[in-house]
Amino acid sequence: MPPIVTDLPAFRLEPTAAPVAANERTERLADPGFGRVFTDHMATIRYSQALGWHDARISARAPLTLDPSTAVLHYAQEIFEGLKAYRLADGSTALFRPQANARRFQNSARRMAMAELPEALFLESIRLLVKTDRDWIPDGPDGALYLRPFMIASEVFLGVKPSAEYLYMVIASSVGAYWKGGARPVSIWVSQDYSRAAPGGTGDAKCGGNYAASLAAQSEAIRQGCDQVVFLDAAERRWVEELGGMNIFFVFDDGILSTPPLTGTILPGITRDSIMTIARDAGLTVREEPYAIDQWRADAASGRLSEAFACGTAAVVTPIGSVKANDGGFAIGGGGTGQTTQRMLDTLTAIQRGRAPDPHGWLQPV
Ligand code: PMP
Repeated sequence: MPPIVTDLPAFRLEPTAAPVAANERTERLADPGFGRVFTDHMATIRYSQALGWHDARISARAPLTLDPSTAVLHYAQEIFEGLKAYRLADGSTALFRPQANARRFQNSARRMAMAELPEALFLESIRLLVKTDRDWIPDGPDGALYLRPFMIASEVFLGVKPSAEYLYMVIASSVGAYWKGGARPVSIWVSQDYSRAAPGGTGDAKCGGNYAASLAAQSEAIRQGCDQVVFLDAAERRWVEELGGMNIFFVFDDGILSTPPLTGTILPGITRDSIMTIARDAGLTVREEPYAIDQWRADAASGRLSEAFACGTAAVVTPIGSVKANDGGFAIGGGGTGQTTQRMLDTLTAIQRGRAPDPHGWLQPV
C-alpha cells in the first residue's frame, strides 16, 4: 500500500538540555580510536504505511525503548551505512560523497524489502546532525566524524513478512586512527570453510546479517594470528571477493591495478569506486576482473604481484603484507607499504581533507 502522505517532513530541532561540557569533550577527543566516542545528538525519522516518512527530528542521543516483539530483533530486517565528515584545511566541514551512500542505502532497503528513504531526507538528516555536532570532529590528521545511518524494522509483530513500520536513525562517532598504533601492513586469513555471500544472497546489501555471518570467520583469522579475514566466492571457493568490511585491490609489476568485479556478492564500496577513479585520473590502468586464490599465491611468489591493499571508509587504505591459508602462507612484495598503495592513500586523503583539488565534486559542504 503506498503511503498516503508523500511530502517530505521538515526536521524538528530539539537540542539537548545536557550537552557534554566542553572540557570533558576535549578529553574524550584526545585519543578517540574508532567507534567508542559518540556525540550529543542523533537524527530520527519514522515510517509507516499510513503516514509515509514522518516525525523527523534532531534530538538528544538517547537509548531506544523497543517492545520485545519488534520485528528487527527476530528477523534482522536492518540496514546501515557508514560515511565521514571532515574538518577541511580552511576550517569548514564537508561530507565525502554522501549521495553515493544515500543510493546504496536505497539499494540495501530494496534487497531487504524495506521502505526506501528518499535521498533528500538521507542527506538532510546527515547535514543537520553534522551541523549540530560539528564541535565533535577531532583535530589531527586522522580525525573525522563517522556517521552511521541505519534503519530497523520497528513493527511489533512476530509474523515473517516485511515490516509495515521502520525507524531510521543517524548517530555520529568521533574517530581518530582506525588501527591502534597507526597504519601498518595487515595480515590476512583466507576463509576456506566459511562464505560471506552467495549468488542471489545479500552480499551487495549493507545489512547487519552479513556482518553477523562474518564474525566466526573473523574470529578464526584472529586465532590464526591474522588481523583480518578475506572471503572467497561461495560457489567455487576459488575467487577472491573482499574482506569482512573492506574491498581489495591488487597491484601488478606492470603498474596495473585490479579489483574483483561487482557480481552481486561484493559490497560496492565508495572508497573502491573513488580509488578506481583517482588511479585512472593518474593514468593508471584499472581492471575489474576475477582473481583466483591460487593465482594470487603464484603471482606473489613470482613477483608479478607487487602490492595488495584493502580499502573502505573507516580505514581508507590499508596495505596487505601477508596472506595465510589452510595450505600455507605467503608474503606480498617486501611485506611493507607499496608505492602505489601509498599514492592512492595520499591522493584520496588529500581530496577528502580539502588539501587537493576535487575534480569530481566529491566533497559536499555542510
Ligand atoms: N565491503 C564491506 C563488506 C564493507 O562493510 C565495507 C564498508 N562499508 C566496504 C566493503 C567498503 O565500502 P566503503 O568504501 O563504501 O566504506
